[in-house]
Amino acid sequence: MTTLYLAVPCYNEQEVLPDTTEKLSAKLNSLINGGRISPESRIMYIDDGSKDTTWELITKLHEENPLVAGLKMSRNRGHQNTLYGGLMVAKELADAVISIDADLQDDIDAIDEMLDKYENGCDIVYGVRSKRDTDTFFKRFTAEGFYKILSFLGAEVVFNHADYRLMSKRALDELQNFREVNLFLRGIVTMIGFKTDTVEYKRKERLAGESKYPLKKMLSLAWEGVTSLSIKPIRLITVLGALVFIVSIIMLIYSLVTHILGSTTWGWTSLIVSIWALGGLQLFAIGVIGEYIGKIYLEAKRRPRFIVDKLINRTADETTEEASEETP
Ligand code: UDP
Ligand code: MG
Repeated sequence: MTTLYLAVPCYNEQEVLPDTTEKLSAKLNSLINGGRISPESRIMYIDDGSKDTTWELITKLHEENPLVAGLKMSRNRGHQNTLYGGLMVAKELADAVISIDADLQDDIDAIDEMLDKYENGCDIVYGVRSKRDTDTFFKRFTAEGFYKILSFLGAEVVFNHADYRLMSKRALDELQNFREVNLFLRGIVTMIGFKTDTVEYKRKERLAGESKYPLKKMLSLAWEGVTSLSIKPIRLITVLGALVFIVSIIMLIYSLVTHILGSTTWGWTSLIVSIWALGGLQLFAIGVIGEYIGKIYLEAKRRPRFIVDKLINRTADETTEEASEETP
């Protein structure tokens, strides 16, 4: 039977934890009683160096409720690193781990469907938001724009998927081989591969408290997303440099023509041509250097170069057995 862990990062979440615990343990209990997951399944809260009483509350909940486990980070490291730490600890104890935010904006009834797909052989099941009408216009606009920019820059992400997903132990073991320090989980997880699927749900409002993702953290996550997945910004500089250089050649011709026609002041031609040519060449040169830095950057990550899904093979004994069966 599947041992399921729910990995829940928490930063200053004292207002929501009691309610969250009630809902999540009701869910786990019904799954345990229905014989779908083993009784060793847990809700694992990961405290990201909260400044309020979150950790004390987790300890208390753990004493009251056998389903609650807690993991405390040494200090505030942000959502992505906390979640990663939680996943790496949980995978040693579970067959499958679902990551979900503490405020339960993501519909926990999608868990059943995620389990169905896991049992049908999926290693990763992405939760995808079908509706964002409970988010403010600003949040929706910035979030959806972010996914569009990411895919324009060549990063493979699942549209409208945040970090609500199920991952099997096997997929998590592979995630561990991605050695990057700049973590943007939803971008790396799609690089793992294996059989995956999505589950749709409606996103709700926060149970209580305020968003722990103010604009500043959102922008830094977006920047991390772009820079940790793609070297396209560097390539854009190279392209821009080449374009400016081409413009400089056009300017050279234009300036020479006006010079010959005699309609300019002395010195203008040489000045304008050198500004364009130098500007273009400089941008181009920076871009070329950037290309190499980009290569170093990708090498420095030491990402796995391949991930094996399955191996079909027979052991030596099986082969000889079969051969002897065939010859009566
Ligand atoms: N979170 C965290 N560390 C941080 C910020 C947020 O662990 O530095 C957690 C937070 O407790 C929550 C999840 O990340 O479980 C998502 O945060 P939130 O719901 O505030 O983000 P939003 O839904 O507004 O994007
Ligand atoms: Mg939230």
